[in-house]
Amino acid sequence: MDNITIKGLTFEPYISHEEIAKQTERVAAEVKRDCATESPIFVCVLKGAFMFAADFFRAINMPKSEIAFIRYKSYSGTESTGEMNKILGLNDDIEGREVFIIEDIVDTGLTAHALRSDIEAMNPKSVKMVTLLYKPESLKIGKVPEYVGFEIPPKFIIGYGLDLDEQVRGLRDIYALKKDE
Ligand code: 5GP
Repeated sequence: MDNITIKGLTFEPYISHEEIAKQTERVAAEVKRDCATESPIFVCVLKGAFMFAADFFRAINMPKSEIAFIRYKSYSGTESTGEMNKILGLNDDIEGREVFIIEDIVDTGLTAHALRSDIEAMNPKSVKMVTLLYKPESLKIGKVPEYVGFEIPPKFIIGYGLDLDEQVRGLRDIYALKKDE
C-alpha cells in the first residue's frame, strides 16, 4: 500500500482491511458470547462507525438483534473540539433492552461518555461500548470501552469510515498521519 496525500497532509498505511476484518470477527464473537438476551440493540454512532457497524452487524449474525443510529459531532480537522453536539437522536425504545454502542474510535472519551449518559437516562437493561479503535493514552473522561478491536497510540487516523473534514471515509484500509506532519 502507498502513502496518500490529502489536504496537504501525508498519511501512511496503518491497518489493512484484512486485519480489520479479523479483529471485527473476534470482537463480534466476544459480544455474542456475552449477550444476555437474544435481541440486543446495537447503536451505531454516525458518521464514523457506519462501516465498522455494518461489518460487525454482519459478523455477529444474530437475527433477533436490531440496529439504530445516533449522531454526535466533536471533531473539526484533526483536533477534537471538546464540545458535544447531538445532531440525530435515538427514536428507538430501548427501555429494559441490552444496548451496545458501536463506535469507530474512542479518543478523549468525551463522545463515549456523553453517549453512555444519554442512553443510561433511557433506562436500558445494560449499556456496553464496542469500538474498533481505542487510544488509551488520550482518554480523559469515562470508562475504558468493554470491547476493543485495536488499541493504538495517539495518532490521527483516517479511512474505513474515519474522515478528514468529511473526505476519505471510503478507504478500505486505515491510514495514520505521518509523524513529521
Ligand atoms: P472523543 O470524543 O473520544 O475525543 O472522539 C470521538 C470521535 O472523534 C470519534 O467518534 C471520531 O469521530 C473522532 N476521532 C477521534 N480520533 C480520531 C482520529 O484519529 N481520526 C478521525 N478521523 N476521527 C477521530
